[in-house]
Amino acid sequence: MSGCIFCAIAAGEADADVVAEGDSWVAFRDLDPAAPSHVLIVPRRHVTSVDDLGVDDVGMAGELMLACREVATRERLKDGYRVLTNVGSDGGQAVHHLHIHVLGGRPMEWPPG
Ligand code: AMP
Ligand code: ZN
Repeated sequence: MSGCIFCAIAAGEADADVVAEGDSWVAFRDLDPAAPSHVLIVPRRHVTSVDDLGVDDVGMAGELMLACREVATRERLKDGYRVLTNVGSDGGQAVHHLHIHVLGGRPMEWPPG
């Protein structure tokens, strides 16, 4: 989608520290990391959020879940990690292209703010 920074990263048209990629997704380091390892996984196709997924996206959504595990393995997050995605304004979503945060390298707290 024109003007979307994560579409531009997924297309290789904007800079990012890419750590892994698959046919339907790209994983890159968060610019403002909230943990020693903080990676974002985005679908190559523009989808606004989980709220925008349809039955045709079931395969892609599953690939995003498996990508979380691949990223965690590459980042050596052997003691565990957190997988989360923010949806809409109450969810705290700042970038309106679906992205999954994979955070690790320190113990996570619960509940989040
Ligand atoms: P969210 O609040 O879930 O929408 O999170 C958006 C995340 O994207 C934040 O953690 C930002 O630091 C991160 N971010 C925004 N722009 C970029 C970018 N160009 N490259 C990498 N991370 C980004
Ligand atoms: Zn996009």
